[in-house]
Amino acid sequence: MLFFTPFLSLLAFVPLGLSYSTLSDSTLKSLPSPGDDFDIHKGAILAPILRTRVSGTPGSAAVLQHFVDFFKTHLPAWTIELHNSTSTTPVSNGKEIPFVNFIATRDPPGSRSGEVGRLALVAHYDSKLTPHGFIGATDSAAPCAMILHAARSIDAALTKKWEAMVAEGADELEEQKGVQILLLDGEEAFKVWSDNDSLYGARALASTWESSFHPAMSTYRTPLDSISLFVLLDLLGASAPNVPSYFRTTHWAYKNMAKIEHRLRELGAFKSSPNHAIKLAKRKNKKPRTEIPFLVDANKGDDTFVGGFVQDDHVPFMARGVEILHIIPTPFPRVWHELDDDGEHLDMDAVEDWTRLVTAFAGEWMELEGFFDFKKDKRKYMDLDKTEFEIP
Ligand SMILES: [Zn+2]
Repeated sequence: MLFFTPFLSLLAFVPLGLSYSTLSDSTLKSLPSPGDDFDIHKGAILAPILRTRVSGTPGSAAVLQHFVDFFKTHLPAWTIELHNSTSTTPVSNGKEIPFVNFIATRDPPGSRSGEVGRLALVAHYDSKLTPHGFIGATDSAAPCAMILHAARSIDAALTKKWEAMVAEGADELEEQKGVQILLLDGEEAFKVWSDNDSLYGARALASTWESSFHPAMSTYRTPLDSISLFVLLDLLGASAPNVPSYFRTTHWAYKNMAKIEHRLRELGAFKSSPNHAIKLAKRKNKKPRTEIPFLVDANKGDDTFVGGFVQDDHVPFMARGVEILHIIPTPFPRVWHELDDDGEHLDMDAVEDWTRLVTAFAGEWMELEGFFDFKKDKRKYMDLDKTEFEIP
């Protein structure tokens, strides 16, 4: 991701009948934390991504396999697809390099393709070719891990909600909302960021989906139209991020996420907060400190968008009319495209806070209040490496 690009939106925002409902305080507080799964050395979710994973290399294939294994093992109700494309790059000497996007989708039972609008949670999983050995922990290993954990955390609640709807004999048309995970390949430039050297996976997928038509008369014409909101996470996991609201047409969604952040801070469930119980316990002066939010534009007026955005995987989708919520800090983290963007330099409290925020946002989007069962689902939230353990 690079550059701030001038952008003028003349479109008025119309929230096409999207429903959204908040989670209760007790649900927000009880959302599972990733715990050991985010250990940077041994964690079942994060550690396998913290390696070089340049598109077309064995590292990339290993990380892709990790995603497939994760869903096959823990989230079998999701449909997995791999989207393949190839392209030459400025350093491939005419050779075609493979780019593979990972797509996992969960739709309501019995729904037909073309009838489900989806919340897409998106990050890129490739790492940059240079500097040699670059890990890209914030860019975007940690965001991928956040999304995997969020998917796992809402899975059982989705099942429960849809089972209840089926039991009640609800009309299938009542719930036409699904969730989609897009872990994209080839975001990084191989040489110098340009229209042709960047966003390889995103460009190919947006182009394929643009001409993949659902059955005639479908509510959504193509898989692109099926994306109600494209939430792109990038460069997350450093301390004190400053994430603006970039797009007027999705400012309402940004504000919803900011509201969750505010509530989590008030509830004492935001670990990076200077007033979190753990921080207070370590500090002599217990006087509350000012909370500086991650999502800084909660109070930005709809008429104050000057029009500028960061080039990233959303661009080919946005160009085709997809609504985008871009969660990326400005300025970028200090470690951006440096060798020390590695596991050791992640702020794990911030990583965990983002994870909780994204999980809660997805839970609210999917209207899952009342369907979480934190006791029963405890097993799902334990270290994936431990096959046996007691449920207290
Ligand atoms: Zn990057």
